[in-house]
Formats: sequence, structure tokens, C-alpha cells
Amino acid sequence: VFITFEGGEGAGKTTHIRFLAKALEGLGYSVLMLREPGGTELGEALRALVLDPAYGPVSPRCEMLIYEAARAQLVDEVIKPALVAGKIVLCDRFTDSTEAYQGFGRGIDREQVRTANAFAADGLVPHATLLLRCEGAAEGLVRATHHGSADRLEQAGLDFHQRVELGFGQMCRESDGRIRVIDTSGPKSLTAAQVFSALVDVVPA
Ligand code: C5P
Ligand code: MG
Repeated sequence: VFITFEGGEGAGKTTHIRFLAKALEGLGYSVLMLREPGGTELGEALRALVLDPAYGPVSPRCEMLIYEAARAQLVDEVIKPALVAGKIVLCDRFTDSTEAYQGFGRGIDREQVRTANAFAADGLVPHATLLLRCEGAAEGLVRATHHGSADRLEQAGLDFHQRVELGFGQMCRESDGRIRVIDTSGPKSLTAAQVFSALVDVVPA
């Protein structure tokens, strides 16, 4: 089973993916946790390149292709074999991030992003995607990171991050139930419970 976590910066994806992995392992499942971009040696090297503020301004098409390159490697080297072995694969970001960030955020044509996504993922689509949402996250991100050591994307302006958030919302409405919204404004334990109950139909009994 392939499950992805999506959402803007600081929504708690990393925290909740860890909670979920622990809970599933406690139930006896074999779980693999991954992140994008990254998850392979080559992918982590590409991640460091694409997030390094030293390289701005980066062409949006170049940026998109680096994410897709890292994804293709992750799918072939790690995700496909793990799924064949019957594992539950949890991935922190996947194709939906590219549609939201490079499509809605950078303005690359959505159909072109989807075509590139399908190519890089070799047609692999998550069984379920959890969209972690936090009201006002874009504003918070920009306030929190504009003077610190933010990565290149975190340094992008408020309007960029708001387009990304709106994009995720639209993609969710269009996804026929694959993308499930998780509200993260309450306590962590409540969010974790929501995550778990959102997956009852895809986690095998
Ligand atoms: O989730 P995480 O913060 O580790 O993601 C790393 C960075 O990559 C984020 O700043 C995110 O905005 C960016 N990103 C992106 N397009 C993607 C995936 C990630 O701009 N397709
Ligand atoms: Mg980040």
C-alpha cells in the first residue's frame, strides 16, 4: 500500500508520518518511511541542489525536472520493490507537491506537470493521500523564515505559498476521494487520530 502526505510548509507532515509509522508497526505491519525530494543517495544529492539558496533564480522547468528526476530514482530503486515485498510505504510529499508548487505556485501548465509526474512515477498513483492543512500556514511560514536560514522554496513570497495552498485545495476537490484533508489546528493527538481513521479503507486488515 502506498500512502503519501502532502501540504504546505510546517503543517506537521514529518511528525505525523512518524506517528503513523509507529502505530502501523505496532499493529505488525512492515512500514517504509520516505521523503521527497530524497530517499535515495542520488535523490538526497538532488534535494541539496534544488533547495540551496545559492542557485536562485532557478528556471521553474529546471526545478520541476530536478524533482521529477529524484522521483524517478525513488520509484524505481525503492518504492516499487517495497510495494512488491508487501510493505506499507509512507512518503512525505510526492507528485501532488509538484502539481501544487511548480504548477499552481510557479505557473507551469498543470497538464504538463501531470504528464511529467506520470512519467517520473512510472504511472504509480498513491492509494491514499493525506493533505495536512493548517489555517494561515502560508503567512506563518513567511513570517518565521524570511530572516532565518530557510531553504530556497521557503524563502519564496507569501503569494507563492498562498497559490500552493489554494492549489492543494482544488486538487483535493478534483481527486475523487484519493486526497483526504486533515485539519491540523487541534492537538497533535487529535490530528494523529484523524490520520489513522482517514486510512481505514486502504490499510489491509
Ligand atoms: O517537505 P519539505 O519542507 O522537506 O520540502 C522541501 C522543500 O521542497 C519545501 O520548501 C518545498 O516547498 C519544496 N518542494 C517544491 N516542489 C516539490 C516538492 C518540494 O517546491 N515538488
Ligand atoms: Mg520545508
